[in-house]
Amino acid sequence: MKHINKIKLSAFLDGEVSDEERIEISNHLKSCDHCQKELESLSHVSDSLDLIEEIQVPPYFWVHLKQRIAEQESRKVIQSPFVTWVRRVAVPVGVAALIIFSLFLGDYMGKAIYQSRIEDLARLDTEFAELLCVNSLEDFSEGSLNNVYYNLVSREGE
Ligand SMILES: [Zn+2]
Repeated sequence: MKHINKIKLSAFLDGEVSDEERIEISNHLKSCDHCQKELESLSHVSDSLDLIEEIQVPPYFWVHLKQRIAEQESRKVIQSPFVTWVRRVAVPVGVAALIIFSLFLGDYMGKAIYQSRIEDLARLDTEFAELLCVNSLEDFSEGSLNNVYYNLVSREGE
């Protein structure tokens, strides 16, 4: 005799078979260990399914869950074109630009620092030269105030 398939057995367990089928299955089960075991394992599954249904969820759980899902989905809609673009394009480009900018800035700062050091050294040179009156030993250039003054002084001395 043909065994009863699981779908039929589970329908039998749930009382979702016709009277005729129920009698037929019951008769088969009396003489078939295989189908009895099958029915037993199915009833365990059924029990655990019942248990899952009996698990208490906190009040408003489904309401909150639905709200969260709705929020996520509305966020997705808002995010869609612009935020996604920002995330995928603008942020990496921005980061790259920032890196390039900081490299330029670093270069500029380096040059600025170098420049100011050079200027400092030049100024120190000048100050040092003035201190030693080195400038006065230099030849006066034509038309300079020093030259005029020198001419005046030397003429007075004549
Ligand atoms: Zn059987």
